[in-house]
Amino acid sequence: MDWAKILTTAFATAAPMLPPIIGIFAVIFALILPVPGRGPRILQRQDSWRRFKGGARREVMARAGNRCEGAVFLAWGRCPDAAEEADHIYPWSKYGPTTPSNGQALCKGHNRNKGAMRPAWWYTLSLERRRRSYFPPEADVRVNAKASKAELATHVKRKP
Ligand SMILES: [Zn+2]
Repeated sequence: MDWAKILTTAFATAAPMLPPIIGIFAVIFALILPVPGRGPRILQRQDSWRRFKGGARREVMARAGNRCEGAVFLAWGRCPDAAEEADHIYPWSKYGPTTPSNGQALCKGHNRNKGAMRPAWWYTLSLERRRRSYFPPEADVRVNAKASKAELATHVKRKP
C-alpha cells in the first residue's frame, strides 16, 4: 500500500472543507467569549455560600423590582414574569461569588434554562443595557464576579 499516496488523496479531499469548518468554529468561539475582566480573580476561592440569602438576596431582588431580569429572546426584551430566584451570573461552580455584583433576579423558567457556562459577552452586555432602564440610580448595572478575600470571609458556612 502506498501510504503517501493515500494521505495525499485524503488531504486533497479534505482541504476544500477546511476553511468553512475553521470559520464555523471561529464564529462559535467568538460567540461564547465572556466580557474580559469581569470574571472571578485568578485563584479566587469558591464562595462558601452556594445560594443567595439574607441581605445579598434581598438586594438582588429589590434592585430588579422583584421582576425577572432575563431576556424575552436571546438579548432582546425583558421577561415580564415575577422574579423567584437570585441567580449567579458567573456560575458558582466556575468560582462566581454569591455577591450582588454577580447576581441577577430570575423567574423559575429563566433560572431552569440557564446552563452552567460562563456568560457570553452578548449575554452580559444585554443584561447591563436592560438594567439601565430599571435599576435604582445608586445601583451599579455592571456584572462583576471578582470578590475580595475579606468579602468572601464574611460568608461563613453554618455549622451543621
Ligand atoms: Zn424570566
